Amino acid sequence: MKRIFAVLSALLLALSLCACGAEQAQDAQLFAMDTIMDFEAYGTGAGDALSDSKAEIIRLEKLLSRTKESSEITKINDQAGTPTEVDAEVASLLKSALEYSAATNGAYDITVAPIVSAWGFIGGDYRVPSQEELNGLLKDVGYGRITLSGTTVTLGAGQSVDLGGIAKGYASDRIAVIYAKDGVTSGMISLGGNVWVCGKKPDGTDWRVAVQDPNDSSAYVGILSLSDAFAVTSGAYQRNFTQDGKTYHHIIDPTTGYPAESGLTSVTIVAKNGTMSDAFSTALFVAGKDKAISFWRSGKYDFDMVLVTSDKQVLVTSGIAGQFEKAEGSGYAYETIG
Ligand code: ADP
Ligand code: MG
Repeated sequence: MKRIFAVLSALLLALSLCACGAEQAQDAQLFAMDTIMDFEAYGTGAGDALSDSKAEIIRLEKLLSRTKESSEITKINDQAGTPTEVDAEVASLLKSALEYSAATNGAYDITVAPIVSAWGFIGGDYRVPSQEELNGLLKDVGYGRITLSGTTVTLGAGQSVDLGGIAKGYASDRIAVIYAKDGVTSGMISLGGNVWVCGKKPDGTDWRVAVQDPNDSSAYVGILSLSDAFAVTSGAYQRNFTQDGKTYHHIIDPTTGYPAESGLTSVTIVAKNGTMSDAFSTALFVAGKDKAISFWRSGKYDFDMVLVTSDKQVLVTSGIAGQFEKAEGSGYAYETIG
């Protein structure tokens, strides 16, 4: 009897292992683009998807980083003022960047690069630049001075560009392509605040993506139930430093040269395009609540959003309101925007 029981339990154990095996998550982590990246994938292609994704991130970082000597962006910046031939993929990403700059009236503007550097957000030598220094640098801010013709890009003399506001979003779009190629239909990635969920969870339910409380890293303001979507957050809490009791963050208002103070503490964009979501999360953080809402209402781009304000409101647009679960007792007031 004992023996039968042993055989039976071994069999059951083997069966349950098989059952899990098919649904077991494979995961990977990578530090790249100045952030921690997490990848999770289910199913037979998962191993390939993870290794292909990591290789893709490393390829993109080499191509797009403005601190890497060999990148296409360094080449463009070094040759500001003269026409520069770039890789077709970089030209296409620049084209999207310029489109999003125009769409947001320059709230998103890749030519803020020298200002981002002046604050030390590139090298990590944080400092508060003088108003005089900022005034000098502001003269060269303006995406309108960039010309792009096919694969030839010309920056205005003195300008430089920074794709930090969309690089991770673009990377997430590329990973979506890789997961599909490797046959993965369920998984998720988080590239430092840029989330993409692939299909649904293996049990058929939606993925649950928490929207962090900008004032408390251990709390959240709500949870989004999503499938096949990008959810990208820009927040004042993500990268900052404190000097003389004042905190300065890394999202710059291109009109003032200062960290944007728009009354928002975070913006989460939910859409089907990672690059666009990333550009808009940065831009609408700069633009503030009212402009963000009218931009969403214009319907020109297909996206939804969660805005968190410094006066403790959480505003959720109607397209995702049904998928948003409020955090009870969070101290925030919730409103649906239609
Ligand atoms: P994160 O990189 O933390 O996810 P964002 O997507 O909001 O956050 O991008 C912020 C980065 O984009 C900054 O680190 C800087 O490199 C760049 N940046 C800052 N302000 C702007 C702006 N107004 N327009 C375009 N890029 C910006
Ligand atoms: Mg962004």
